[in-house]
Amino acid sequence: MIIVINGSQWGDEGKGKVVDLLADRFDIVGRFQGGHNAGHSVYVGDKAFVLRLLPSGIIHEGTVCVLGNGMVIDPKAFFEEVDQMIEQGISITPERLKVSSRAHLIMPYHRALDHTSEERLGNEKIGTTLRGIGPAYEDKAGRRGIRVADALVPEVLKSRIERNLEEANRIIVTYGQQPLYADQIFEEISALAERLRPFVTETSAFYAEAKRQKKNILLEGAQATLLDVDHGTYPFVTSSNATAGGASVGSGIPPHHITGVLGIVRTYATRVGEGPFPTEMLEEEEDMANLIRTRGNEFGSVTKRPRRCGWFDAVATRYSAELNGYDSLALTKIDVLDALDELKVCVGYMIRGERVDTFPAVSSDLRQIEPIYETLEGWKEDTLGITDIDELPAKARAYVDFLSESIGVEIGLISTGPERDQTIILKDSVMESWFTGNDQAAIDS
Ligand code: GDP
Repeated sequence: MIIVINGSQWGDEGKGKVVDLLADRFDIVGRFQGGHNAGHSVYVGDKAFVLRLLPSGIIHEGTVCVLGNGMVIDPKAFFEEVDQMIEQGISITPERLKVSSRAHLIMPYHRALDHTSEERLGNEKIGTTLRGIGPAYEDKAGRRGIRVADALVPEVLKSRIERNLEEANRIIVTYGQQPLYADQIFEEISALAERLRPFVTETSAFYAEAKRQKKNILLEGAQATLLDVDHGTYPFVTSSNATAGGASVGSGIPPHHITGVLGIVRTYATRVGEGPFPTEMLEEEEDMANLIRTRGNEFGSVTKRPRRCGWFDAVATRYSAELNGYDSLALTKIDVLDALDELKVCVGYMIRGERVDTFPAVSSDLRQIEPIYETLEGWKEDTLGITDIDELPAKARAYVDFLSESIGVEIGLISTGPERDQTIILKDSVMESWFTGNDQAAIDS
């Protein structure tokens, strides 16, 4: 089976835990877009792993991990993360970590350009992570990018750096920063590329062979659906396709070979950085936002920045479900809501006095949304660590069913805490078939 997993909202839905749970069932876990801006936290026993670039599967010794062609890779950040993992006792070898020869490299001038980009955008600031990811994708689309394979040929690497740096330096200097030097960049990157060489693989051919051998493959999205460059809240989005379609392009796996799509939804919403957020808890609901933020530990896993918190947005999540073609959903963090008297769910949008049923394309419209809420009763009981659906309080069950119906997709997994075993898997769900390896669509294909 080949399953895509991604976040249905604006990220931080708790995908790390679900991928970690599934990784045992999969031979290969690959990423297909983004760079070292993912920021998953995975807890195993008393060990905490923070993964930015590597797939969460790397923690499972038996799993082979792939960085796909759709990604942008900062070779320095790559080895920092690899070295950190090795220090934490994870074995990382070219046998179990493959880097696509067609992935683009993030160069030192991309980081410098990222620092100028927010200034260039003026009041349409995006709140990027300043790691050079956006500028690297700009160069990819502008056909100036340097790919992993290029960096392995010194003459090619040198001439591309020289050509690109001239233009990059013009911008960097205009914004009052120090110019960079081609020789220094060449030395740094060619040394890193040599270290990278054993990991470099024709990953689409690797996947094709894996498929012939009937291996199970999990394709892990980073960021989330509403941050997709085409379908998200543009321009407040990431630079790549985080939706399920991106998994095919960004891995080189034919779309019809993908056998299932799993969406991660959280019982409430959060958003990091700028950008429209229709169900955000504003000043009058500040106490509620603080409660959820504290109970859910909604602070950036790398930056520690407090995340904006909001109510569950069923309109946006239904939009995500249709875009991705979700077969089953994992609902995370139900325990965070245990303390609440009432829960609001956004079931419709009003814009300038008119009801809209689709997710608006224009960010100024998104900012004018007045959410239409339905209010459900809170359960006010402890759900932390429940593993059996029959033990879930009836009102919690009603909340789960209400979300599933409004999104239009089954909820096959409920996460009741950060640990692996704090999980309910629903019997006879599509989700269960992925956990047991009895996915009929995959067996038939
Ligand atoms: P990701 O990038 O989508 O994996 O999001 P994060 O790394 O920010 O993960 C969300 C955080 O929530 C992590 O600290 C997880 O351990 C934690 N988490 C995941 N699922 C649950 C859950 O069901 N309940 C609670 N309380 N925490 C959870």
